[in-house]
Amino acid sequence: MDELVALCKRRGFIFQSNEIYGGLQGSYDYGPLGVELKNNIKSAWWSSMVYENDNIEGLDASILTNPLVLKHSGHESTFSDPMVDCKKCQARWRADQLPDNKCLSCGSTDLTEPRPFNLMFKTNVGPVESEDSFAYLRPETAQQIFTNFKNVVDSSAKSLPFGIAQIGKAFRNEITPRNFIFRVREFEQMELEYFVMPGEDEECHDSWVEKRLDWWEKQGLSRSKVKLYEVPDDELAHYSKRTVDLMYEFPHGLEELEGIANRTDFDLGSHTKNQKDLDLVAKVMENKSSNSKLAIQDLKTNKWVVPFVIEPSAGVDRGVLAILNEAYNIEALDGGKERTVLSLKPHLSPIKAAVIPLKKNNQEIVNLSSKIKNKLQKLNVGRILLENTGNIGKGYRRHDEIGTPVCITVDFESLEDASVTVRDRDTMKQERVAISDLENFLIRKIS
Ligand code: ATP
Repeated sequence: MDELVALCKRRGFIFQSNEIYGGLQGSYDYGPLGVELKNNIKSAWWSSMVYENDNIEGLDASILTNPLVLKHSGHESTFSDPMVDCKKCQARWRADQLPDNKCLSCGSTDLTEPRPFNLMFKTNVGPVESEDSFAYLRPETAQQIFTNFKNVVDSSAKSLPFGIAQIGKAFRNEITPRNFIFRVREFEQMELEYFVMPGEDEECHDSWVEKRLDWWEKQGLSRSKVKLYEVPDDELAHYSKRTVDLMYEFPHGLEELEGIANRTDFDLGSHTKNQKDLDLVAKVMENKSSNSKLAIQDLKTNKWVVPFVIEPSAGVDRGVLAILNEAYNIEALDGGKERTVLSLKPHLSPIKAAVIPLKKNNQEIVNLSSKIKNKLQKLNVGRILLENTGNIGKGYRRHDEIGTPVCITVDFESLEDASVTVRDRDTMKQERVAISDLENFLIRKIS
């Protein structure tokens, strides 16, 4: 973990938030390369969900949430962790994370009784600060999917099964944020709510577990490092009938990367029951009205149903950590040397290709390099960088370390024969490629 944290800082993936003022615990900032990696992960998820499935629609809803939503979702009363204080050194811990009931700071066993600590952040809305003028920062993106259920159904003419996907920030006032970006207070989630007929939920749940395992494998995680954890009944969230967690062997241990829950009709049912027009809702629940906000008509029977929901919910930040961990390698080279290489899947690499002029002061070479950069950039496959440092060896080392799949060197010969030297990150093999073939070459390399 220490090596990864150091690499992230040195190369500009991830920084401690507000570092110049001593930091803000549980918050991290993504630097120039981190933002690219994170965007690539999110766009791989979005493609696999929304673009590859005509029955899944996207959403980008607000973070500020009406307290009624989180009251009726059950979060106000149950979204808490058990907290204990150490009576000796006053440190505060999550009770379920203390092995042997000992304070992790001073080792004392003199702890307070566990008490629930609600994890939701509140913020004031409007100019007047009063008890009831507040909103929550959403603790999961899911609730805004449920509250938009009817809007999406009506505007996109959906029938069951169908899904709504969303990527966005979520906030939890974690008692003890730790392990770099693994447990933070501000993070991003990639969540799908997949709505199915009651009765079809269990089979659908199993199939999403498989699909999600496949997806993580395509992002570079070894299947052997991802374990399935059947969450026991007494640990299930209040809304869940069954949850399977995908656990990954992070540098600090085996922990949750994604949770895949069968949320039943809990949320849609609860929001339906608790809307203002209770009379109307009562009728809907008895199948007497078509005006429910959060039900859908079964086209076979014409009856109104509140669907069940399967929810694959993945953390972007935990994904970044797992993918970096998996890609990070120190390789032995001939002559007792070694190199650090980030063997990222090319579609996730922050920089797709670096164009390196052999001589930084040779205008002809630099101009040709710049033309090549612009031409490749137009492919719109991600960032292509003109790396004009004049030191090829250093350039290769840097790009190995940040996971750039190919380096393209423009030399004197290039001016004569319109070809360049292309070096592969993984094999370190070099080959000559005609400039006119570079676009196809790059597309083949990174797809
Ligand atoms: P944990 O048990 O580790 O606290 P959780 O079960 O509360 O996690 P979920 O509510 O299932 O997590 O949230 C879905 C996903 O969101 C998690 O699998 C994780 O990837 C991510 N996530 C949740 N809490 C955090 C956090 N504090 N920091 C970073 N990612 C988080």
